[in-house]
Amino acid sequence: MSKIIYPTTNFKATNTLTIERGEGAYVYDSNGNQYLEALAGLWCTSLGYNNRELVETASEQMSKLSFSHMFGGKTHQVGIDLAEKLSAMVPVENAKIFFGNSGSDANDTHIKMLRYYFNAIGKPEKFKIISRERSYHGVTIAAASLTGLPPNHTHFDLPFEALGVLRTDAPHYYRGALPGETETQFVDRITNNLEQLILKEGANTIAAFIAEPITGASGVIVPPAGYYEKVQAILNKHDILFWADEVITGFGRTGNDFGCTTMNIQKPDMMTLAKQLSSAYMPISASVIRGDMYEAMIEQSANVGVFGHGYTYSGHPVACAVALKTLEIYERDNIFGHAAEVGDYMQKRLREFADHPLVGEIRGKGMIGAIEMVANKQTGQAFNNGAVGAFAQQACQTHGMITRSVAGSSLAFCPPLIVTEAQIDEMIEKFGKALGDTLGFVQQ
Ligand code: PLP
Repeated sequence: MSKIIYPTTNFKATNTLTIERGEGAYVYDSNGNQYLEALAGLWCTSLGYNNRELVETASEQMSKLSFSHMFGGKTHQVGIDLAEKLSAMVPVENAKIFFGNSGSDANDTHIKMLRYYFNAIGKPEKFKIISRERSYHGVTIAAASLTGLPPNHTHFDLPFEALGVLRTDAPHYYRGALPGETETQFVDRITNNLEQLILKEGANTIAAFIAEPITGASGVIVPPAGYYEKVQAILNKHDILFWADEVITGFGRTGNDFGCTTMNIQKPDMMTLAKQLSSAYMPISASVIRGDMYEAMIEQSANVGVFGHGYTYSGHPVACAVALKTLEIYERDNIFGHAAEVGDYMQKRLREFADHPLVGEIRGKGMIGAIEMVANKQTGQAFNNGAVGAFAQQACQTHGMITRSVAGSSLAFCPPLIVTEAQIDEMIEKFGKALGDTLGFVQQ
């Protein structure tokens, strides 16, 4: 038995697949079998595998300066260059950037920056954060507390109250609407709930509202039209910051540069980035905030003292070099334009499964999607455990494609942004076979 404690795993699961190498949109197991990577690893390998430019960039940077840090007055040019480039890309005003290693630690950093900022400007009571049901923001103690998925809370005794985490509705019409409710009525109801929560808690105690523009890990939830316009109006009215967690939706994934653009979220105050920031060739994340917040932190720092937060690998030079090259490739090769075009094609092809007896809903935008399988197509009744999702995931693998079942019985589609329409056809064909097998399994 292996010595590894596997992440997010049923401890009793025994069938592991040993992945040995990758090339383009494919990975290969230790027996040489090829798999189309329909989830881009974990929603992250945007430029696919064995991109020689990224490999060489990492190698050159390792030769030149394999490590340096950003504590106590030290910096390095590749970190400065990355921050410049990223700052010019994001919709956050005069963006300032703190580097970390993962989406989870970047969200922790944001919580600390919020506390530091509001303490510095003399509003220490403004520390609560509204997050949504079904959201995913990571797994550290703080990020898991923001996360709205109960399985990430079980048995961890997370400090929701101390962290000031409040929960509001997920914008999930298919699973959250009342009988007979239209999308507009649904949006009105849940945004009204949001405002009631703010009034009940007191707007002066709430720092920020965190949202994935399109929720990824809990089944690719695309909010109905008008949702974010209403949310933003409420937040502006009550002086609450909009914090966009773009760990999955950032960098061309949803058909535009950022999920905020796709979902018409105007000028978020804060943004969390990771995964596709480096095409997952190196672990790196970014906690982005508005420039004037940072300036206030500096000006008022005498009130609170040093900003005592930083990771050994904050701004790791090799990760910075790879991320910088990744952003250059995105621009030079029009990767976001390509992903938008092929993403439209993928959405169209996914919707060909609409009449299949197992398919309840097909969701997505650009190069991210999900197909939710249900026990009853007419009523939308969900399967009462994850067995069908797990079977379908395994069936995809048997047919030479890797994806994940998420939120029970939804299969996620999030291939590398470089895939071709022919590879989308291959994905659809493989998924079709797996869905056929799954129907057989359900009807047994
Ligand atoms: N935020 C979002 C929206 C995510 O999807 C994820 C991971 O999937 C995270 C945060 C956590 O990122 P990491 O796994 O790098 O800690």
